[in-house]
Amino acid sequence: MNAASSSSNAPEGAPQHAEPGTRRLAARPAYAAPPQPVAQPLPRHSPAIGGLVPFSTVDWPGQLAAVVFISGCPWRCHYCHNTELQTRAARYDWRETRAFLETRTGLLDAVVFSGGEPLSEPRLPSLIRDVRRMGYRVGLHTAGIYPLRLADVLRHLDWVGLDIKADAQGYDDITGRRDSQRPALACLTQLLSAGTDFECRITWHPDWLDETRLLTLAREMARRGVRRFAVQGARSSPGAPPGRALSAQAQSLLTQWFSEFTYR
Ligand code: SF4
Repeated sequence: MNAASSSSNAPEGAPQHAEPGTRRLAARPAYAAPPQPVAQPLPRHSPAIGGLVPFSTVDWPGQLAAVVFISGCPWRCHYCHNTELQTRAARYDWRETRAFLETRTGLLDAVVFSGGEPLSEPRLPSLIRDVRRMGYRVGLHTAGIYPLRLADVLRHLDWVGLDIKADAQGYDDITGRRDSQRPALACLTQLLSAGTDFECRITWHPDWLDETRLLTLAREMARRGVRRFAVQGARSSPGAPPGRALSAQAQSLLTQWFSEFTYR
């Protein structure tokens, strides 16, 4: 057992019971370092944990969350910043990751499963159960590739960030896969009828979808009942500023159409 899975920060040999009249301190897991990538290949059935961000304020707006990245994605979006997560591979041991998350209970609100495409992991329902048992709220980032798998886990999710890649005309050009809008819209339909809290977001550049088409797409989303919508300006790298700015007029319209609109 390593430090991440230690269940107590009491020094070895310390008394196990409080003396009469003294206050018993709640047992609290050690403040452990995040797990490291495994040195040896994990067994083939291991969940494809591709990375971990121990603390994030941006992956689920309003929540302090740890983000668990699942590797594996069947799409090949030309702008993907996570190409190393497109291929399925277990780089972190879930038991170590889970033990680390145990040490953060009470400090974080939530765990977000991201990717890659987290629904590509067949063991995701069990990972979700594990973090729920710890008392975390659970969020999911998805490109909407697997509607049936989403249906399986939806009742266990508190929030979903659903990527909308483009309008019908531009979808497959972005994803590099045929008929890719169909599953994403099926996921949207499920989210709307389940009443799950969710956000639709689009990574946007005018060379891929001009503002007129973006607004037509967004208007349709609002008409269908989407309440939270975000436009993420496409960047050459994750820390860079957006390549092209969304006009103030477009932002003003989007603010009117949605209960919550974010441009980031
Ligand atoms: S769906 Fe996401 S992870 Fe998959 S290729 Fe597209 S951007 Fe990358």
